[in-house]
Amino acid sequence: MAENIMKITNLSSSYGNIKALKNIDIEINKGEIVSLLGANGAGKSTLMKSILGMVHIDEGSILYKGQELVGKKSHEIVPMGISLVPEGRKIFIELSVEKNLEIGTFFRKRPPERDKELLDMVYKVFPRLYERRNQLGGTLSGGEQQMLAIARALMSEPVLLMLDEPSLGLAPKIVGELFGIIKQLREENMTVLLVEQNATAALAIADRAYVLENGRITLSGAAREMLTNPEIKRMYLGG
Ligand code: ATP
Repeated sequence: MAENIMKITNLSSSYGNIKALKNIDIEINKGEIVSLLGANGAGKSTLMKSILGMVHIDEGSILYKGQELVGKKSHEIVPMGISLVPEGRKIFIELSVEKNLEIGTFFRKRPPERDKELLDMVYKVFPRLYERRNQLGGTLSGGEQQMLAIARALMSEPVLLMLDEPSLGLAPKIVGELFGIIKQLREENMTVLLVEQNATAALAIADRAYVLENGRITLSGAAREMLTNPEIKRMYLGG
């Protein structure tokens, strides 16, 4: 039996009177890549923000390794091992690549030797960032900035890494490279929650997927089966 990392039950979230999530049930097991599909405004980002305690939750439960997250604040949740790479790569453009990475360790205090090990690990996964470690963040290409945003999240040693639209605005070749890295992270036993407009690319690396429509889960299953599901093909795969 796969070890459960997250169990979301009957979750509803809102912004004022806008109900953004309605009675959502989601499970994520250790070492899985779980993809969330859905049109603009379906509630994908809201789900990630709800997990991080950044949105008002009306009802429901978010169990993370058996612990209830609902009611906790972001600054309590992040150190528990959950990291979000938000849409639109929020890196520090005035700081060097390496300083950007060091900031990733701030929320999880540990011995300095461990930080050094993590930096080495991250540079191994992203050799291009190593080559550019002294360059200012703002001078990196779009793809490199996205890699830096992910690398910085890895510096906090997340158990669950949440990626919001990592391929946004990237050339297809870079998307391929990035998704190769995400797959590689899974092989190292990281658990990934992936939101993507590029559903074909997401389903190709995901184990399972959920479809969100108007704040509700309308379909879920193995990613492989979703790729051949006629409804999914029509709605999300351009077929
Ligand atoms: P996209 O792919 O466009 O990013 P999404 O699936 O991530 O979409 P969300 O950003 O989660 O969608 O938005 C879900 C719903 O909540 C939308 O109707 C949106 O307008 C609304 N919403 C999101 N953020 C806020 C906010 N800060 N205040 C009010 N309404 C919001």
